[in-house]
This record gives sequence, C-alpha cells and structure tokens, in this order.
Amino acid sequence: MGDQLNSALFPTYARYPFTLVKGEGSRLWDDTGKEYLDFVSGLAVTSLGHSPQAVKEKLVAQLDQLWHVSNLFQIPNQEVLARLLTENSVADAVFFCNSGAEANEAAIKLARRYNQKVLGNDRYEIITFQQSFHGRTLATLTATGQDKVKEGFLPLPEGFVHAPYNDVAVLEGYITDKTCAIMLEMIIAEGGVIPAQPDFVQEIVRLCKAHKLLLIVDEIQTGIGRTGKLFAYEHYGIEPDIFTLAKALGSGFPIGAMLGKKKLIDAFTAGSHGSTFGGTPIATAAAIATVETILEQNLTERAAELGEYVLEQLREGLKGNPLVKEIRGKGLLIGIECTQTTAELIAAIHQQGLFVVSAGPQVIRLLPNLLVTREDLDRGIRIICAVLAARSAILING
Ligand SMILES: *Cc1c(COP(=O)(O)O)cnc(C)c1O
Repeated sequence: MGDQLNSALFPTYARYPFTLVKGEGSRLWDDTGKEYLDFVSGLAVTSLGHSPQAVKEKLVAQLDQLWHVSNLFQIPNQEVLARLLTENSVADAVFFCNSGAEANEAAIKLARRYNQKVLGNDRYEIITFQQSFHGRTLATLTATGQDKVKEGFLPLPEGFVHAPYNDVAVLEGYITDKTCAIMLEMIIAEGGVIPAQPDFVQEIVRLCKAHKLLLIVDEIQTGIGRTGKLFAYEHYGIEPDIFTLAKALGSGFPIGAMLGKKKLIDAFTAGSHGSTFGGTPIATAAAIATVETILEQNLTERAAELGEYVLEQLREGLKGNPLVKEIRGKGLLIGIECTQTTAELIAAIHQQGLFVVSAGPQVIRLLPNLLVTREDLDRGIRIICAVLAARSAILING
C-alpha cells in the first residue's frame, strides 16, 4: 500500500495503492510480484507496451553517443523526427519541448505571435471548449474547460473563452474582434471520451475560414495512432493550422511537439521561443524509434480494428447492465460512461488485476497499448464485465 503519511511529496495526486516495479508489453508487476494487465499505458503514453525493444535499442545506442547539447547547436535527430512527423501529417514545421502543456503553450504563443507579428493585428483570444483538458501551466489550465483545475490559481491570464462542445448553433456567438484561434481535442479525452460530431467540426472549419482564425488541434492524447489514425484530425478530413503532441511520442521518454503549417513558420524567429531540454538527442531518439515502429508495423490500422472489436465485445458483455449508460470511443481510446461515479468500480477492477482509469467523474477509460493481443483484450473485457455485473447485482438487490 502507498504510505501517504510517510511521503515527502506534495499530495497533488490521489494515487492508487499499487507500487509498480516492472513492466513488459501489456504487463505490470508490483513490489509483491503480483502481475497486472495494463489498460492505462501510463495515460496513453506507452503505446508500444512497456519497455519496447526497438525504442530501447535506439535509446541505448544514443546513450553511448551523446546525451545532451544545447539547442544552440545542430541536432540531427530533431531533423529526422521533424521530417517523419511532417511527411506523415499536414504540418510543415515542428518545435520540440518536453510535455503536453508546453506543446500547447507553444501553440498559444504561436497563434498570438502570428497575429501580432505577421498579420499585424491585436487579436489574442482563443476559443476552447467546456470539458476540455489542455494542461496545467497557467495558460493551458486557463485554456482547459474545467473549473477544478483553476481553483486557487487566480489571477488567470486573459484571452480564453469556453464554448460548449458539439454545439453547432451557439459557436459563432463566441467569436469577437479579438478572436485569433479555435483550439480543440477531436475526442475530449480526460474530460470523458467524447468524440467531436462531424457537423460540429465542419462548423469550426467554416468559422475559421470566414473569420481568418487559426485551427489548433490538441492531439496530445489522441495522436500517434491511438484512435486508429496517426492523428485524430484525419478522421474528419480537416487540416489544422497547428497541432500538438506529447504523451505517446516518446514511449515514456518525455518529449512534446508543436507542429504548424508553412504560413506560420516565420512567426517564430530566433530567440522568440525556446526550451533547454526541448528535443534532446536522447528524447528524439526515443521518439524516432516510436514513430517508425508505429508506421512500419501499421499499428494505427491495428488500433482501429481492435477498437471496433473492443466496442463490440463491451456492448455485448454489458448489454442491459443498469450501471452502464454508453460505450464509445475511437481506436484504443474507449470510454464506458456509467450512471454513477466510477471510483469504486475502478478500484474493484484493479483488485481483479486489470488497470483502467477514469475520464471525468462517470467514465471508465480504457487505453490499452497498440500491440495488445486479442487474448489480453478478451481477458480485460471479461474482468470489466464481471465486475460491473457483480456491482449491478448489488445495486439491484440492495
Ligand atoms: C495529458 C494532456 C495534456 C497535458 O500534457 P502534460 O504532458 O501532462 O503537460 C494536454 N492535453 C491533453 C488532451 C492531454 O491529454
């Protein structure tokens, strides 16, 4: 059990009572040697499973060569990774950083600077959406459409308004003469696994064109194959001006990226933005191996197929369960919306040896790695269905 009383850490997390000491593929082991099946994947980070060989080999080779040089020097791995990402997306240039929040900070800064320095106007406002999650820095928690991340952190920076997600009718009313961008998750992940409706996305694209707004897509959780496309915007046939990556990009080695289209490149000049650790030789080595593996092994398609399978199996196995309201998702980002809060349900699933995580108060989120076997998926689904069946029996029988 985790000993919170003896901890020298700030209590910023309500941690699960497991101390994990080893991971391989879809498996984790705790400090007593007990084995678990992992459908959390470090919150959509370890998309190739734990300790993937290809990433490990590339990392070890790089560790033998060079760990870190300043971004004041040429870093060939950054060039290679940027080519990989731009050749496989709508973007033309990449800025590397260390986390999702930093990638979104870079996106926000680029949107403002493009307006102020290239277009020569004073627009700065960004429309984001209720229930969204964009990070924990002051700007990105302000961009986030959830009050709980803002409490006690006043004053917040100016320049963000939150529109209701998937509401086509009201969106245009949020645009002012200060609006410079619309920023969204194609699937609200943290906030409840809520996919954007196609007509809503088309309205966003229309408004961006009509009002000359930048379209910023936060792909930090959905990116790198998770949803069955390399980037979730591909599901909608749209071209964001800016999108951001982090989580799965380095298979667990911290790295973030902000990607933008050609017209934005000159908005950032030398000295206008930076990061000491952004895109070190080691971090970029991990990311190159990760992205190459995803592409070479066609894991996006695999995620799409397995995702369909999981949705089907869950809908079958949970049919008629009064605890379950809706099962939804894309690829291997899947949510089971319940009729009650999920903390106890999740704890009961953990007790059966399967790790899952919440998304918002009433959704159980599944994030298996993209190499997970069908047998492991079946095992996980069986555990979830059994636990929810047992709990609903308690509910019904008192
Ligand atoms: C996790 C996440 C972030 C924040 O990333 P950090 O690396 O924790 O800063 C931002 N946006 C989305 C959609 C995320 O899922």
